[in-house]
Amino acid sequence: MYKLGSPDAFIEQILDHIKSVKTVGSLDLGEINPADIKFQSRSEYYRYVGSLTIPPCTEGVIWTILKEARTASKEQILALREAVHDGMMEIHSKSYMKFVFTFIFTFLLFLSISLPTTFASPVENEVEDESHFTYKELNGKGPKNWGRLNSTWKACGNGKLQSPIDLLNERVQIFPTLGKLKRGYKPAPAILKNRGHDIAVEWKGDAGKLVINNTDYELKQCHWHSPSEHTLNNTRYKQELHIVHQNSEGGIAVIGILYKLGRPDTFIDQILHHIKAVGAIGEIDLGEIDPKDIKFGSRKYYRYLGSLTVPPCTEGVIWTILKKVRTVSKEQIHALREAVHDGFEENARPTQWKHGRPVYLYRPKAV
Ligand SMILES: [Zn+2]
Repeated sequence: MYKLGSPDAFIEQILDHIKSVKTVGSLDLGEINPADIKFQSRSEYYRYVGSLTIPPCTEGVIWTILKEARTASKEQILALREAVHDGMMEIHSKSYMKFVFTFIFTFLLFLSISLPTTFASPVENEVEDESHFTYKELNGKGPKNWGRLNSTWKACGNGKLQSPIDLLNERVQIFPTLGKLKRGYKPAPAILKNRGHDIAVEWKGDAGKLVINNTDYELKQCHWHSPSEHTLNNTRYKQELHIVHQNSEGGIAVIGILYKLGRPDTFIDQILHHIKAVGAIGEIDLGEIDPKDIKFGSRKYYRYLGSLTVPPCTEGVIWTILKKVRTVSKEQIHALREAVHDGFEENARPTQWKHGRPVYLYRPKAV
């Protein structure tokens, strides 16, 4: 944020271009060094998870607002206001910010820098060569060291929004306004894929979507972990299914379902013979798979903000964990564990610190 004062050095570099851009539309600036945007590297900042401030208002944006306001000159502010189209000059200033000009350009620049790295199709970028990390700690490649194994995996080590977590009933906030889950799933062609560290069903066509806060998240794939990654009141269950969705900006929303030992799961049953066969082959065409066949069994769910549970541990993932624990048979668990590569029979990341994150529980008002 900026208040009126001496000119900002970064704007000054491009002020002439700002003044001439209005009629042209876009201008080539040559090389611009983002390090020229000055702020104290050790300055205090506010951190929260929000959205883009212009349509499509995509959520899951990690915001960092520097506490200290810097200065921009009247001429600079005027130049930026003059340059935009008529009627847009006041759009970002609010009355309570009388002397503070929100320099949205800087934020857009930061977003354009940070979005591709934060959200660069992490679903596709999920590590597929598992030889680079393990779930066992013995070899130095275990979960405690994931953040040190690759420069793009740092969030695994120092992130503050990591998953999985324990969902402790006494600490959750009941939140009826979250509303019931809006799923619009439909059958689509899919493949079964042995990713080494897990077995996944990947949809190749339009398999529908999950809608959260009016944002569409397209269904991409689902995969299994054994034992469960999330725990309920410190109880770890036999298995966990992750249903992964992605919005048009690359933001991710995952639904997790926990399983205990019992009757066979009907969704796994449909593809059990393929799971048993995929080991050596790597990929099997499944034909049409209807994601509606994944049974939820409950409308109650936990909601919190976390990360991918495998490297690069990308943060900003909207998690939905169903409260109902479903069942899976011993044979089904065994088949999934046998199919993955050696050493990945147990593929659950340990629970992570919450760092004060709220966990919400949705349950319908009238039961
Ligand atoms: Zn997962």
